Amino acid sequence: MNKNIAVLRGDGIGPEIVNEAIKALDKIAEIYGHTFNYSDVDIGGCSIDKFGVPITDEGMNICKNSDSVLLGAVGGPKWDNCPPEIRPEKALLAVRKELGLFANLRPTCLFLQLANASPLKQEIVGNGIDLMIVRELTGGIYFGKRFTEEKNGELEATDYMTYAESEIERIGRVAFDSAMKRRKKLASVDKANVLDSSRLWRKTMHKLAEEYPEVEYSDILVDNTAMQLIKNPSQFDVLVTENMFGDILSDEASMLTGSIGMMPSASLSSTTLGMYEPIHGSAPDIAGMDIANPLGTILSAALMLRYSFNMAKEADAIETAVNAVLDEGYRTGDIYEEGTKKVGCKEMGDLVMQRIK
Ligand code: NAD
Repeated sequence: MNKNIAVLRGDGIGPEIVNEAIKALDKIAEIYGHTFNYSDVDIGGCSIDKFGVPITDEGMNICKNSDSVLLGAVGGPKWDNCPPEIRPEKALLAVRKELGLFANLRPTCLFLQLANASPLKQEIVGNGIDLMIVRELTGGIYFGKRFTEEKNGELEATDYMTYAESEIERIGRVAFDSAMKRRKKLASVDKANVLDSSRLWRKTMHKLAEEYPEVEYSDILVDNTAMQLIKNPSQFDVLVTENMFGDILSDEASMLTGSIGMMPSASLSSTTLGMYEPIHGSAPDIAGMDIANPLGTILSAALMLRYSFNMAKEADAIETAVNAVLDEGYRTGDIYEEGTKKVGCKEMGDLVMQRIK
């Protein structure tokens, strides 16, 4: 297959970690007979420095016309005082909106080799954690009308949380389809005991559940979910939820695994076009030192193969290689413990690449 990939290295450690993901993709192309064409697009602070905007129209067009987008991370102290309309993060929101990326998938997997890095007790994480959070990304309270007004002699602020049935249904389908490809268990997270938007969410999910009889479906309140993620995370397979609940729960879940450097994410649209990036930021404190963990980005590239290019075997090959490297005891500084072998970002990327079969 021939695929065009927009490569958005971004700022801080972005270029270092994306380079390692590209090594893995190139190895896949070589072994499995694919061609990946890369187009570089500046995004974030580096684009502000060059062009005065966090992403140019031309860059955005390259993203739109690609088969998928691979992103490192954006931002850093140098651009913290930029005016809000040209801050580095603005580019991320713009890409999500322009590409219609309404579904954010965050697989949260505790690699058993790294169980000591989890802040949870061994008896809780011992069964492993392998869950997927499917978060609605373009609706809800983050995109609703908001305003502050003076009322009764004081300021009052309002944020609207709105969901249309069609928005709920389309994210619901992504979640049910994900569950079908995994352990066929789906929990829909809401606050239906209080919120109207959650009641509509629940009703729509129930209707969809009838179309997926093989999926073991349940409803769970968001407050209980926050508690259960700490108490017994291995009970979950796929969780689906609205934008703000997903924002909070996915950060909570990522911490269960102990290292932010390991976690990938995928943002999907209604076509096969998606954006793939690690969940962490640009880590300016370690940029340019060749010590960043590239595995979250390499695993994001695997998600790209699986979700945008329908290359499940190839995605498995990358994930297996990452596991092999961890089994052999190689660790970047963030996941290092005594008795393991410390390696830098480039060496970690090389080790994974060499083990891709
Ligand atoms: P961060 O995720 O960049 O870093 C938090 C801590 O984790 C740091 O100590 C960092 O060194 C470490 N870390 C992160 N990724 C790592 C990796 N791959 N390997 C080893 N260690 C790693 O979060 P922050 O410090 O709050 O933010 C830094 C900048 O990144 C800010 O400008 C922020 O706005 C931006 N940011 C960007 C994104 C994105 O591009 N999607 C997301 C979050 C934050």
